[in-house]
Amino acid sequence: MKKIISVVGARPNFIKIAPIHKSFQKYKGQIRHLICHTGQHFDEKMSKIFFDDLKMPKPNFYLGISGGSHAVQTARIMIEFEKILLEEKPDLVIVPGDVNSTIAASLVAAKLHIPVAHVEAGLRSFDRKMPEEVNRVLTDEISDYLFVTEKSGLTNLKNEGVNNSKIYFTGNVMIDSLVNFMSHINKSKIIDNLALKQGNYILATFHRPSNVDEEENLSQLIEVINKISKVRTVVFPIHPRTRNNINKFGLSKKLGNSVIILDPIGYIDFLSLTKNAELVVTDSGGIQEETTFLGVQCITVRDNTERPITTEIGTNHLIGTDFNKAFLVSKLILDGNKKPGRIPELWDGKASERIVEIVYQSLFI
Ligand code: UDP
Repeated sequence: MKKIISVVGARPNFIKIAPIHKSFQKYKGQIRHLICHTGQHFDEKMSKIFFDDLKMPKPNFYLGISGGSHAVQTARIMIEFEKILLEEKPDLVIVPGDVNSTIAASLVAAKLHIPVAHVEAGLRSFDRKMPEEVNRVLTDEISDYLFVTEKSGLTNLKNEGVNNSKIYFTGNVMIDSLVNFMSHINKSKIIDNLALKQGNYILATFHRPSNVDEEENLSQLIEVINKISKVRTVVFPIHPRTRNNINKFGLSKKLGNSVIILDPIGYIDFLSLTKNAELVVTDSGGIQEETTFLGVQCITVRDNTERPITTEIGTNHLIGTDFNKAFLVSKLILDGNKKPGRIPELWDGKASERIVEIVYQSLFI
């Protein structure tokens, strides 16, 4: 029996590993797929609800590491994860995405000569000020299997001189979750519960440090959300990082009455809100992909994207960080200037099956 440990830490990781775990069940007599949760996101609304919504089993290992600076968090995950690897001696470690858990786990595994598979390899924003970019570049460098979601990833890895034999264009596991849970998403009651009209509201999410960590930026961002909410109802589920900063800077009273403020919401309800929105305004990575798949217009308030396919053929409008532009482009889109959008290659709900097949072949054949 071969043993594989997948490492998850933050909200997007749970969504990416759920379909992989499901696909490994095909080989459950030959491969034991275990899940290690580092604890980076730990509470009910950022963690537990995802395990429930995505029908994932309880993690086999829980490291309980949250908070602290990037260095403290990464180092503590490394210390605890090393103990697990020494005890369990898995045949492969799988790391998704670009969070601190991703680089911490892959670094420990690589030093113990345990092969590492990076799911969502090759994405690049080319902005090394983003902690996620540093995590991506370094994880790719020490991984043995690079599973790529979009063609830009193939080009980036090639340009970095990565050996072709490690690179696999498998598609997007985030979309696998969407496809797997579409019938649940269609049954969500969130639209009715919030008294929204289908296709007649805007969904907003913000959590990137560059947008929410400085008082001036966050204050301007809230002003723009208020301004947009004069045109359409805005639903704003607030990420804990953003919520903490709103409280720290005393900005909570600034949020206008026509904005529906929510805590972070579970996967099924969130995707229902996304699917039925007229427009999504965000700085998230994953949401750029989900809106492109769903054909929903998306404004990304960032200077760059590591997911360029969503702007090239999808419905994503990358507008930079001049927040007023978010208002202007929102108005244009609401007035009918919409991108038609196509679904990128291999975003077909079968990426995790392809990944599991490659892993199986390499472990057994
Ligand atoms: N998401 C959710 N509830 C929320 C906000 C987001 O379920 O309130 C989901 C959504 O599917 C999104 C994913 O969490 O794609 C990851 O979101 P996040 O923006 O936190 O991470 P990023 O993709 O920017 O790393």
